[in-house]
Amino acid sequence: MKTINYSFRKKLNKVIGGFTHNYCYQCGACVPDCPSHRYLNDFNPRTIILNALYGFEEDLIGPDSLIWNCTNCYNCHERCPQDVSPIEVIIALKNMAMEKGTNPPVVNNIVERVKKHGLTVSQTELTVKRREELKLPSFRTDCLDELDKLFNL
Ligand code: SF4
Ligand code: SF4
Repeated sequence: MKTINYSFRKKLNKVIGGFTHNYCYQCGACVPDCPSHRYLNDFNPRTIILNALYGFEEDLIGPDSLIWNCTNCYNCHERCPQDVSPIEVIIALKNMAMEKGTNPPVVNNIVERVKKHGLTVSQTELTVKRREELKLPSFRTDCLDELDKLFNL
């Protein structure tokens, strides 16, 4: 039987965005408008916050964690009556997983792409053409120095 991991909770409390999980009263208001839950029944922001309350480290930041399915849409942030902002807790958990090295390998590729090009996705001829068709500005390439400074803070 699993027991409450107070030590993990203490760690989560100290990470930016992590503390608010303590305010959750498990009402479930964050669930119906969560797009990730709609497509993956096992992904549930209420359950993630419950696991945070229990301090279930392996479920939250282990290699098989579901947190990486969050789309960062912030619907849960808008719905929560307790200002828990599950998305912020999830970001805190993602940061903890990154530090622990248990994040999915594909996330490392994204980080490297941001460091190198300032983009989370690859720029292709097709994306450039599509942006032109949609009259969107071209990709910025003048921010790499700023990014470099941020990554080396
Ligand atoms: S809406 Fe807020 S209080 Fe309700 S379950 Fe979700 S995180 Fe907890
Ligand atoms: S930010 Fe993540 S957890 Fe919150 S509603 Fe969107 S997909 Fe769901």
